[in-house]
Amino acid sequence: MGTVTAQGLSKSFGKVQALDGVTLDVPDGAFFVVLGPSGAGKTTTLRAIAGLTKLDAGSVHLDGRDATGDAPADRDLAMVFQNYALYPRHTAYENIASPLRARGRPASEIAAAVDRISGLLHIERLLQRRPAQLSGGEMQRVALARALVRSPRAFLMDEPLTNLDLKLRVEMRTELTRIHRSLGATFVYVTNDQVEALSMADQIAVLKAGRVQQVGTPAEVYERPANQWVAGFVGSPPISLLACRAEGDRLIGAAGWSLPRPGWTTAEDGRPLLLGLRSEDLSVEQRGDAALPGELYGLEPLGDRTVVDVRVGTDLLKVKARPTISGTPGERLLVTVDLDRAHLFDASTGQSLS
Ligand code: ATP
Repeated sequence: MGTVTAQGLSKSFGKVQALDGVTLDVPDGAFFVVLGPSGAGKTTTLRAIAGLTKLDAGSVHLDGRDATGDAPADRDLAMVFQNYALYPRHTAYENIASPLRARGRPASEIAAAVDRISGLLHIERLLQRRPAQLSGGEMQRVALARALVRSPRAFLMDEPLTNLDLKLRVEMRTELTRIHRSLGATFVYVTNDQVEALSMADQIAVLKAGRVQQVGTPAEVYERPANQWVAGFVGSPPISLLACRAEGDRLIGAAGWSLPRPGWTTAEDGRPLLLGLRSEDLSVEQRGDAALPGELYGLEPLGDRTVVDVRVGTDLLKVKARPTISGTPGERLLVTVDLDRAHLFDASTGQSLS
């Protein structure tokens, strides 16, 4: 078993309220990602679960048992940090074996465990080398193997891929998902990288300023963001948000545009709204009934696609287009909108009305 439940975690450091009633329910075997910008309280949450931070309020239950007062060593959790140094004089094998040796496990069990985790991380051929004989990426794998060689109740991971270059980070995302599946262990994984969260998580908790904004699967968080802030934080390029209001069967933009009012919205007439449009739900290449007039502001070629920046009044829309699209700044364009996939938010509270 490896369920982790945090209930109403609160913690202040002087005047800074790092956590303000954080509640998380991590099921056994989940790959649970805590996602948020710098300073959101992610590390503090992890440290509170590990027992490394004394809480002002709240409780931590592990496998259903109240562990709030337990010492870190009694929680049977493994912390994996961004920076994890290897012992320079020891071989990779000895480094990976060290947590089990420290616990006095028998040699045969250690050999089997190192064997298994090395296989999962594809580092069998590196086991007799010392850290100085390994590349940065290989060292990271060995360090990860050392962290994962134990079988604790759950692994708590604090941005473990941050120090890798982009290519390796992308590779390690796939590896970590695979390893998670093979180990069947509970991962609580902290990151500020929404792509990491979307690509690896079973469930994401989005944290901002010490408060949980939304908990859901990657698809739920992306497709049905609970509020304007989550919509803006998750997704790349960021969602475009346009000020508007409902008037009868139309949505009227502050910039003067008008679109058919989506059937699904419950907003009453006149209420200030924000219309959220993702780049893949907009097109300058196809024609449809719902369209916004604008002008070309710029092109961002990204290899497999180009993001077209279109100005609609004072708003800037990010529109996904084919990679070979061309155009001249200032040129007039019509942006076709897939209103079934659009989002509406209350402009004053930011809450979703979709
Ligand atoms: P990052 O992604 O930058 O690591 P984070 O989401 O992990 O950020 P935390 O490290 O949990 O954020 O910090 C949350 C808030 O609490 C921040 O404002 C931080 O400055 C503050 N904080 C954290 N630890 C301490 C401490 N020991 N003393 C004072 N303030 C702290």
